[in-house]
Amino acid sequence: ATPTALLVGTGRGAQLGILIKGPEALESTRRLDAVVLDKTGTVTTGRMALLDVIPGEGERRDEVLRLAAALETGSEHPVARAVVAGAAEAGVLPPVTGFANIEGLGVTGTVDGRQVLLGRLRLLGERGLVVPDEIVRAMTDAQAAGRTAVLVGWDGRARGVLTVADQVKPTSREAVRRLRALGLTPVLLTGDNVTVARAVAAEVGIDEVIAEVLPAEKVEVIARLQAEGRAVAMVGDGVNDAAALTQADLGLAMGTGTDVAIEASDLTLVRDDLMAAVDAIRLARSTLGTIK
Ligand code: ADP
Ligand code: MG
Repeated sequence: ATPTALLVGTGRGAQLGILIKGPEALESTRRLDAVVLDKTGTVTTGRMALLDVIPGEGERRDEVLRLAAALETGSEHPVARAVVAGAAEAGVLPPVTGFANIEGLGVTGTVDGRQVLLGRLRLLGERGLVVPDEIVRAMTDAQAAGRTAVLVGWDGRARGVLTVADQVKPTSREAVRRLRALGLTPVLLTGDNVTVARAVAAEVGIDEVIAEVLPAEKVEVIARLQAEGRAVAMVGDGVNDAAALTQADLGLAMGTGTDVAIEASDLTLVRDDLMAAVDAIRLARSTLGTIK
């Protein structure tokens, strides 16, 4: 590879809003088979809005929302931001002590003297909380409609369901079509529920879905695809995507994402848009074409 041709590619990249860490990254684009796309913040905007607060039987809606929102002030997760913003009318929220983030599952902390748990059904189950049937039903109904649903509970029992919705970025569907046209099989990867993930996948035209994956497992998913002999590109934005972005043959970070993801990747997409991933792979290939 002549350094001049690579530099031209890098300069054109900057014009297209693609920051290339090192020219070596481009080399892998020749033989990519699959492109793994993180859901939240990559295929979707990641700007979630709180839709519903559904209290369990005998529970008060305002209390469910108040405790949930208080707890979520400790988290930067898109779900947390939606819950806090959606509770603006609840007024001043009580303080939280002993806050802890449980990677890929939810959060916990003490609010108003109660130890509150908030997150996936799996989290409340693992911590031994009873989850009444009507709460499970409210959760699965929301998921069937493509919404992310989290449970909140305290004193041994789930007390309510919060549903949030995200939106697919307007260009995601066309970008997926073009990634296919470049010979890459798109795969959707997420820690969210499988029903929600399938709904998003269908909306953008992806057939392969890997859901309910813990942050630490994302890297194993990439390694498994590679073990099948596939060369894998990964596009992500979160702290939870960093290890997977490093493991991938080509790691692409959304520029709007976390610093950790950007550091872990080969390319950064300044535009908050999957079309930039298409441009990046095209540019890399054409740059290599002029080198040979
Ligand atoms: P993704 O892969 O889509 O970026 P994450 O791994 O960050 O998802 O989170 C997976 C799931 O864990 C979320 O869909 C949510 O149900 C739950 N979760 C994680 N953190 C929180 C939080 N702070 N509040 C509520 N739910 C959370
Ligand atoms: Mg994400």
